[in-house]
Amino acid sequence: MQKVRLGRTNLEVTRWGLGGIPLSTIMSGNTEEVINQVIHTALDYGITIIDTSRGYMDSETLIGEVMKTRRSDCVLASKTMSREKDAAMADIEESLQQLQTDRIELYQIHALRPYEVATVMGEEGALKALRRAQEQGMIKYIGLTSHHLDVLIDLIKTGEFDTVMFPFNVIEREAETTLIPLANEHDIGTIVMKPLGGGAIRNIVKAFKFFNNYPVDLILNGVANIAECKENLAAAESRDQLTPDELVSFEDEVSFLGKDFCRRCSYCEPCPNDIQIPFMIHVFWQMVHDKTYEELPVEKQEMGKNSMIWFQACEECGKCEERCPYDLPTIKRKQELLELFSNR
Ligand code: SF4
Ligand code: SF4
Repeated sequence: MQKVRLGRTNLEVTRWGLGGIPLSTIMSGNTEEVINQVIHTALDYGITIIDTSRGYMDSETLIGEVMKTRRSDCVLASKTMSREKDAAMADIEESLQQLQTDRIELYQIHALRPYEVATVMGEEGALKALRRAQEQGMIKYIGLTSHHLDVLIDLIKTGEFDTVMFPFNVIEREAETTLIPLANEHDIGTIVMKPLGGGAIRNIVKAFKFFNNYPVDLILNGVANIAECKENLAAAESRDQLTPDELVSFEDEVSFLGKDFCRRCSYCEPCPNDIQIPFMIHVFWQMVHDKTYEELPVEKQEMGKNSMIWFQACEECGKCEERCPYDLPTIKRKQELLELFSNR
């Protein structure tokens, strides 16, 4: 498996890292047994980094079960959504406990939004907790993840972060000329999230070749089963780049996603009812909307049923629709999801 250097952390990790969202029974609909098998398979085939978050429900716990016997096989990365010092420190302690380890190599501020920057970077902010945890040996490096490139660009310049994680794929290319060159210049590790656009991009071979055209380090992708795991392994092994003609044809393949595609930029949040709008509504809708319930694979059926609590929490206040720069119809999509999965 291809190895990369993760910027100034000097961590040597595999080009493909195992993403933690599908490693949660609640977020994926998978059983604990399947998740356990997926993690073991990825490690058996030489994957050396797993990324998770306090926000991915039981993902840390299930990864921790495997870490009891395989901690030396991989680097662990996790994240906190807390923005204040005390809450972030409590998250780090909880992550260590759930992951069954005494140190996490990379701990990240998760999904930072513009209006949260001052809090996180302030005297009582989450960054202070990560710094203290680093001094105490609980974590080794500090990273930042955001859907807002301007936030990442501003904070790279502070020198506080060792890695940045951002959405980047054939549909979302804004980082190409801005964030990526800046991170490279500062020797900050570059971590790609959403390499398949939240599941919208189906051609995984072309998707991985696409990343070989750019100076990005780690590609994080979650897989739901062993077959997907092996497919990712094969695609990530290639060092071939897309030719200009292949890139044009790849762009044509995904052009149908058009304007209606959720970029997961999170401008629509926060939701007063704490719904994670991009993932729970739009990305999920994209995966299931053109099928009947019976046509869906079992894991999507389960995921839909498990997500009913989120769909039902929407009171149709409309705030998210006002904020979405792409005019996506959140309420209508929520109603369609409710209809698809109700009474099942
Ligand atoms: S619904 Fe709109 S604002 Fe919210 S993440 Fe998707 S594209 Fe961005
Ligand atoms: S319309 Fe629903 S999802 Fe959107 S902000 Fe209001 S409660 Fe949240």
